[in-house]
Amino acid sequence: MDAAATGVKTTCPYCGVGCGVIATPGLDGEISIRGDPEHPANLGRLCSKGAALGATLGLEGRLLTPLVDGAETGWEQALDHVARGFSETIDRHGPGSVAFYVSGQLLTEDYYVINKLAKGFVGAANIDTNSRLCMASSVAGHKRAFGADTVPGCYEDLEQADLIVLVGSNAAWCHPVRYERMVAAKARDPHKRIVVIDPRRTDTCDAADLHLPLRSGSDGVLFNGLLAHLDRAGAANAAFLAEHTIGAAETLAAVAGQTIAETASMCGLPEGNVQLFFDWFARTGTVVTLYSQGVNQSTSGTDKVSAILNAHLLTGRIGRPGMGPFSLTGQPNAMGGREVGGLANQLAAHMEFEDPVHRDRVQQFWRSPTIADRAGLKAVEMFEAIGVGRIKAVWIRATNPLVSLPDSDRARAALAKCSLVVVSDCLASTDTTRAAHVLLPATTWGEKSGTVTNSERRLSRQRDFLPAPGEARSDWRIVCDLARRMGSSGFDYGSVADIFREHAALSGFENGGARAFDISGLSNVSEIAYATLAPVQWPVTADAPYGTARLCGSGRFCTGDRRARSLPVRPRAPVSATGVGFPLQLNTGRVRDHWHTMTRTAKAARLNAHVFEPYAELHPDDADRFGLSDGLLARLQSAWGAMVARVRLSAGIRRGAVFAPMHWSDTLASTGRVNALVNSVVDPISGQPESKHTPIRVEPHAARWHAFALNRRQLTQPKLDYWVAGKGEGYWRQELAGDVAPEDWQVFARERLGGEVIDCEWIAFRDFAKGRHRFAMVRNGRLEGCMFVAPDHRLPSRTWLAGLFASEGLSPEARLSLMAGAPRDPNGDIDPIVCSCFSVGRKTIHAAIEGGAGDVETIGARVKAGANCGSCKPELGQILARTRLVSHAR
Ligand code: SF4
Repeated sequence: MDAAATGVKTTCPYCGVGCGVIATPGLDGEISIRGDPEHPANLGRLCSKGAALGATLGLEGRLLTPLVDGAETGWEQALDHVARGFSETIDRHGPGSVAFYVSGQLLTEDYYVINKLAKGFVGAANIDTNSRLCMASSVAGHKRAFGADTVPGCYEDLEQADLIVLVGSNAAWCHPVRYERMVAAKARDPHKRIVVIDPRRTDTCDAADLHLPLRSGSDGVLFNGLLAHLDRAGAANAAFLAEHTIGAAETLAAVAGQTIAETASMCGLPEGNVQLFFDWFARTGTVVTLYSQGVNQSTSGTDKVSAILNAHLLTGRIGRPGMGPFSLTGQPNAMGGREVGGLANQLAAHMEFEDPVHRDRVQQFWRSPTIADRAGLKAVEMFEAIGVGRIKAVWIRATNPLVSLPDSDRARAALAKCSLVVVSDCLASTDTTRAAHVLLPATTWGEKSGTVTNSERRLSRQRDFLPAPGEARSDWRIVCDLARRMGSSGFDYGSVADIFREHAALSGFENGGARAFDISGLSNVSEIAYATLAPVQWPVTADAPYGTARLCGSGRFCTGDRRARSLPVRPRAPVSATGVGFPLQLNTGRVRDHWHTMTRTAKAARLNAHVFEPYAELHPDDADRFGLSDGLLARLQSAWGAMVARVRLSAGIRRGAVFAPMHWSDTLASTGRVNALVNSVVDPISGQPESKHTPIRVEPHAARWHAFALNRRQLTQPKLDYWVAGKGEGYWRQELAGDVAPEDWQVFARERLGGEVIDCEWIAFRDFAKGRHRFAMVRNGRLEGCMFVAPDHRLPSRTWLAGLFASEGLSPEARLSLMAGAPRDPNGDIDPIVCSCFSVGRKTIHAAIEGGAGDVETIGARVKAGANCGSCKPELGQILARTRLVSHAR
């Protein structure tokens, strides 16, 4: 196949929607990216992150050679060093003294071999994954109810359901293409209803007929109340319960008598809205309940999942068109990791440690000398064990736990004490690679091949379209090379397809229909068939060679008696209560245009435009209470750590709650790691941390001056107590603040912008009395860099100034504007960016609306905002609504 002519079909490396992507190398070396119209997950659509993938493929910052103790070395020496270190540690301290911490970014084949090495050859199950942090509670809930980790439904159900309930899910930002398909389906069918259950009013609520901003952590109470109501309303499916479930009577007894009024009171919701939601659920035949991190990231996450599953089991609405509970996974291959046993408490192919038959079966299949006989340490426990010296050697693959783990300062201290820290990654400098003794360069998206599984159990191929740079190697190859050095047999794969065939064969080995995960229909796939494998939903067997859209619809589950388990849920409050000293509750999450710790998305300038700095969203009443206002810097402090973030006021957040995004690392900001604050307490069953509820206090961050710098060349990292750095289109940007002003602002500005630049014209405006200073460097008539200083956070528009970097020469008017600190033409400032695809700012959108654009589509037609990926459409809708409100008031 000629890739340059037709493009390479692959999948997006970000969220669990699993969109198909076509990457087409151009003659100029650029890679153009578009959605794959034939991929069933997205039918050609991509969100802002997926659409910007082409801009993330550069080699800047890449790790290209192995390093041992900071010195470049060859692969042979590096792998010998790691193999020796792991083997000697195991010999001296036993197999439980080593660990592997992996990632939902890995491909299934990468995951399969590391799991085989740990559980089948090292003989201990200390292998866990960052997916523990996003969906372990769903896995535990599925296994308790269904006897297996199965997602019963498929994406088409969301189009077929008359009622969609989203719980703890800001799908508009976190699963945008899935969200857009729901919105489109609702537009086609006005009878379809959407309910959003979330303490925060997010962009997802724009599509909702009803938003229930429940008290944080009260989801279990709400779904117990729903269960009681469904029973009272006669919505129980008696035949389904009798034939296909166990435990419904006890479950109903546990909620009997819970009234709507009590439910509303405990959840902090208006009774009428709770009644409405319950009535809709009871009376609508086709209901899908989607849930995500808001449910999972809790010390009672597994119980919350059970409470949701109970409602679907009671009504028999599961596994049939338009019906079922639906866990939305965060990562591109969280599901694939679950299939191979990437979690410390699972064996491969959905088999269990607790069952000796399963252990024997896997050991026999692998022909391994040993097999782990019990579950290993889950993510948080693993880093605790590293901290106390129980784990002495750890290999971290394709993840950045020093940013993403809760209580991340403690995780950092733990790694600092560990005798051997090996990190395989594509990047040279992340918070975690900086803690490594050995760095192994791995290939990344576009360079590696394998499979991933999305939220609807759909396996898709990731395909390479770029050569491996430097000495980078595929993750699976690195593991196999290491395994052989450690004396393990069974790792002599000739190709990635070899691993896939073995994985598929294990899924069918002595299965006989007992285990839902079965892709044995693909176990003999040829190299060519693997190369051209089309997306397919598991199970894929001899009986179902084209895959299976839905599971559980027949009422048969994976328990021994084939019946589902309905389980009584006794809701528990979050473990740490707010109170004296820490009166607010911190909720963490994602922003629209960034992914995880931004190691990839921060490379795409346009993705930095929508949200540049770490922020803390508060209710205006709380801001008043704590002396804060919009745009100020605030210090957030918990019992575990602190961060500094820009205040954003929102009436859409509950009083007493604070939302802060999870993305910023020490690489990009001085004090932006929100997980440093997060309590590392976990759900006792799933081991998933309570990332949505940490008691904190918030106070103004003392800063006597504020500044920003924009420069064509990358700015060096400053030594200040507040800075945030990032890339723009044609420039680099830094936000700065400090308590002590430099002695001479001009010297400071020259240092920041590049003091050695001698062929530049230097323009300066200085107002010592007001503490306002403006500096600009011009070379050959072009703006080279600028820096603006003020005594408070009110500084000129960065978007306006960024626009000056795009022009080839500064006009006399632009020079005057620079020194005046404002564009002479007010329309020259489009701040802030709403549509990152086309860099369309809010003022431009306002102008379009005032010029007659009456809906989102017309705005798109006039100023392009929302006309590409559509991720900004909810925000466009809000601007439209607010503008109408203002016009109406006038
Ligand atoms: Fe990628 Fe966006 Fe699709 Fe998620 S919704 S897979 S981030 S393109």
